[in-house]
Amino acid sequence: MRAFVLTAPGEAEVREVPVPVAGPGEVVVGVERVGVCGTDVEFFTGEMAYLHQGHAAYPMRLGHEWAGTVLAVGEGVPATWLGRRVTGDTMLGDGRCRRCLRGRQHVCENRQEVGIRGGRPGALAERLAVPVSSLHVLPGKVDATLGALVEPGGNALRAVRAAAVGPGDRVLVMGPGTIGLLVAMFARAEGAEVHLLGVTAGSLEFASALGFEHVWTEETLPELPFDAVVDAANAPHLPALAVELVEPGGRVVYIGLAGSPSVVDTRSLVLKDVAAVGVLSASPELGDTIAAYAGGLVDPRPLVAATVGLGEIGAVLAGRRSEGAGRGPKIHVDPAR
Ligand SMILES: [Zn+2]
Repeated sequence: MRAFVLTAPGEAEVREVPVPVAGPGEVVVGVERVGVCGTDVEFFTGEMAYLHQGHAAYPMRLGHEWAGTVLAVGEGVPATWLGRRVTGDTMLGDGRCRRCLRGRQHVCENRQEVGIRGGRPGALAERLAVPVSSLHVLPGKVDATLGALVEPGGNALRAVRAAAVGPGDRVLVMGPGTIGLLVAMFARAEGAEVHLLGVTAGSLEFASALGFEHVWTEETLPELPFDAVVDAANAPHLPALAVELVEPGGRVVYIGLAGSPSVVDTRSLVLKDVAAVGVLSASPELGDTIAAYAGGLVDPRPLVAATVGLGEIGAVLAGRRSEGAGRGPKIHVDPAR
């Protein structure tokens, strides 16, 4: 089968690789759609921290936002899984340690992450082997495009739940990329008044086109009481700005990662009585994200600018825009193309 293989920083190719076999407790999925995200770009550039911590090494098979159909089952997996449309948890805890046993397998020290960590091949291929325990079934209303948006959506939903906003609340979302826009969509669905902070005119115009009327730059941001601030950007000064902007008694949520450390003065957290939360991974909210998409509460499909084939991923990771692409921040891959 064909798979996208990253061989060194800036070097990648589509290769013929052995078709995966479903091991005990695993399934093999025919991959229908895969999202390319910022983490994949960091692996392409070589900046990703896991490369330097020994959690990942080239050659790598990327892809962790995916949807597909179960084509084969391994030992111990009921045949009823065959033909089911699914997505899966990126995080694969060892299932044995204290964190896993307490429901926090997404931060298991020994975890693999599909297409990211521990040598577990990702979904940018025609087929993918994953543990059946990591699967989530997709209802008919969740098509392949939505299915491949469940993982980023779950991250965003966790951020919104950490921000604890609802009707009557005002939330500021920093960074109108895929995660920021998904946060904005879930916060809007919760009934909050959503404001977005961005840098480029194009990204702010796109946010406006999605129906978000309060879009600002740091220069134009009005002085308003924000009950929560979500940092979904990658600028090192924003974590401190979030604490500065949030209302006393409010919440700041950190889901973006900067390339260098950010300083936050904890005295501000104390004196403003602010709760600060970090979010890694979608795992605990994958099911609710699927339900939100299936119910039409949130429809993130406009975020997808283009759907390309395996052969075009290298160009996407290098930052080149596909011909005819829309304005959205997300590129999807259909391995059958
Ligand atoms: Zn564990």
